Amino acid sequence: MPHYRFCFFIFIFLNIFCHELSAQANTVSLAKVKDLTQKACDYLDETNYEKSLQKSGMALQYAFDLKNDTLISRNYNIIAINFHDLGEVDKAVFFYNKALAYAERSNIVSLRMMITSNLGNLFFFEKKLYGTGITYYKESLKFGKQQKYLKEIAITNLNIVWSYFKIENYKEGLPYLRYINKHQNDLEGKSNDIALNFLNGMYWANENNAVKANEYFLKAISVGESKDEKTDLIYAYLEYSKFLNKIGKSEEAYKNLLSYSKIRDELTDKEKLKRASIAGFNRELDEYKREIDKIENEKIEQYRSLKKSRIIVVLFVIISLIFLLLIITLIKNIRLKKKANIELLQAKEIAEEASLLKTQFISTISHELRTPLYGVVGITNMLLEEHKELSQSQHLSSLKFSARYLLSLVNDILQINKIEENRVILENLTFNISDEIIMIKNSLSFLSQKNNNKIKIDIDPCIPEYLIGDKLRLAQILMNLVSNALKFTKDGEVEIIVKLNKVEEKKYFLEFHIIDNGVGIAVVDQSKIFEKFVQVGRKEEDYQGTGLGLSIVKRLLGLFGSTINLESDIGAGTSFSFVIPFEHDPQKTRKIIDEIEVDLTSSEVYKILIVEDNLINQLVTKKIIEKNNYVCEVVDDGFKALEILEKENFDLILMDINMPLMNGFETTKRIRLQDIKTPIVALTAFDKDEITDEAISAGINDIIVKPFEPVKLFKIISYLIKETKNVG
Ligand code: ADP
Repeated sequence: MPHYRFCFFIFIFLNIFCHELSAQANTVSLAKVKDLTQKACDYLDETNYEKSLQKSGMALQYAFDLKNDTLISRNYNIIAINFHDLGEVDKAVFFYNKALAYAERSNIVSLRMMITSNLGNLFFFEKKLYGTGITYYKESLKFGKQQKYLKEIAITNLNIVWSYFKIENYKEGLPYLRYINKHQNDLEGKSNDIALNFLNGMYWANENNAVKANEYFLKAISVGESKDEKTDLIYAYLEYSKFLNKIGKSEEAYKNLLSYSKIRDELTDKEKLKRASIAGFNRELDEYKREIDKIENEKIEQYRSLKKSRIIVVLFVIISLIFLLLIITLIKNIRLKKKANIELLQAKEIAEEASLLKTQFISTISHELRTPLYGVVGITNMLLEEHKELSQSQHLSSLKFSARYLLSLVNDILQINKIEENRVILENLTFNISDEIIMIKNSLSFLSQKNNNKIKIDIDPCIPEYLIGDKLRLAQILMNLVSNALKFTKDGEVEIIVKLNKVEEKKYFLEFHIIDNGVGIAVVDQSKIFEKFVQVGRKEEDYQGTGLGLSIVKRLLGLFGSTINLESDIGAGTSFSFVIPFEHDPQKTRKIIDEIEVDLTSSEVYKILIVEDNLINQLVTKKIIEKNNYVCEVVDDGFKALEILEKENFDLILMDINMPLMNGFETTKRIRLQDIKTPIVALTAFDKDEITDEAISAGINDIIVKPFEPVKLFKIISYLIKETKNVG
């Protein structure tokens, strides 16, 4: 029986891996497994299968715990060799395959070489499946070559030759034989020597070279006998006997066959003994195999459930993280929203505050500008009236123009501000469209002369004589457009055309056209010019402008529910047009006219008290009042007003609002506390709407904004005085 020879072969490999193992063991538990594996190797070497299996079984369990594929593979291999040696061929194949699977996973080449070689031996010598054996040997040879394990390569070559010769394929076996003959020194071992010689003998026998064959067979037998290597020696006798028989030396063939039989019987007895000694062990082997199977299954199951629980833990962690992130994002969002809300509220407050500040700023500035302008315009008028010879003075008319321009700028800014804040309400006044347009033409005559322009007026005769509407805002629109036309036209003509567009009951839709033949407006600029402070391609010296005119026009037309149309070509001129509805109601008109007439027919001499701190304004107001044959007294502040009122009676008080020491409201309150019922008119540079509430609560009867049309002031004065007298 061949077992012994191959066990030896196997053990050499085991020693290799045991060494490798010791090199890898670097932790305590790994050291323990390595130690157990080494012991299993040692016991196998001593053919102490029971102990070897016990140790390798334990080592296998630990190796599974460590998930160390190399150690799992090696212990499976030891177990497989145990079974192989014990003649349990199928169980051995089973464990070799397991060992091979784990060796592939760990990718340790020496291990794969060893296991495939063991499988080759098993299929060749035990199962007599030479083809399968050769396949495993060749596989093993491939791994051996990778690592240059010379001895193992030589032995595997030897086994391949033997397998091929066994199936009488001498041709295939020859290259392998040549290799071993060349590398005999790598074989290192007497039994291998015997095999090499009788394989050469078999080769030459097949080649019919009796001399060479005889020589090799005899050498194999002599090495075998001298070293007492019976395992291989019997093959030498057997193959020699076959050769002798082939060449007709029957007697000698028989003699060698006897020698073969004798050794075989000896070996069979030994084998029988071994079998007998392990007979009771067989059941335990089955049990052992089941145990080992169980270990793996349990470990795999454990591993799977561990993997499952790991997956569950990982999933749990991931889900927790996602939740955490969601919560964090949620909190952040809520905070952001809160912050945004707070910021929005703050921004709103700031915006409101800013808007209030802006309004206050604009009204303060307007007030501060209007007050001195009132003086400038007033004094200019006075000068012109008192010194008729100066009426031709260019300087004086320029002064008047500039003052008026400044005044209009302040009014423009104030107006835009008011429109933007929706504080403008259109008024209903009776007017005659022709009168209004002629007035505009006259007031712009200075401008038309400057650029040598003619103003042509064309009014549709179908338009009724009197219309009702906000003539002041209409005048403002026309003034802006006509003055622009005059500014941007030289030596040309500006046409103001008014047509009756349509009539809807009492509503008369007037269509206005302001046409010039001036410089024109480029198409790209046509939409821009209605924005605030936009001036297009004008040089400083050309004209003075604020860039607010068209912006106001657009907004004022918006109040009338109308829009502006523009047609213009560079060099050809410009045409602005719009339609505004006015009311035509003869009854209403009559009433308004009557009222005006009543107001202006007064010829009484009234006594007026002027409370004003600004000296220039004192002068201007006084002049206006006295011009109408009224009598007036002027005081600088509220206290003086209270003082004089204690002594004298007045028909009316003109009260400035913005005064040092005590303002107009406070002064009025105190006057009322003295039970003085004299009508008080606030004469102020403030915008009327801004102070109305406070004025009424202080006891002021009416407000008139500086600079004012004297007629308007007298209208109010006579109305209030008459009313008070009627009540009194
Ligand atoms: P400004 O007070 O500077 O005239 P406007 O708002 O009234 O401001 O006009 C804006 C711009 O539109 C002007 O600077 C001018 O370039 C252009 N524009 C307005 N009317 C005319 C016109 N009739 N002909 C040519 N250009 C004009």
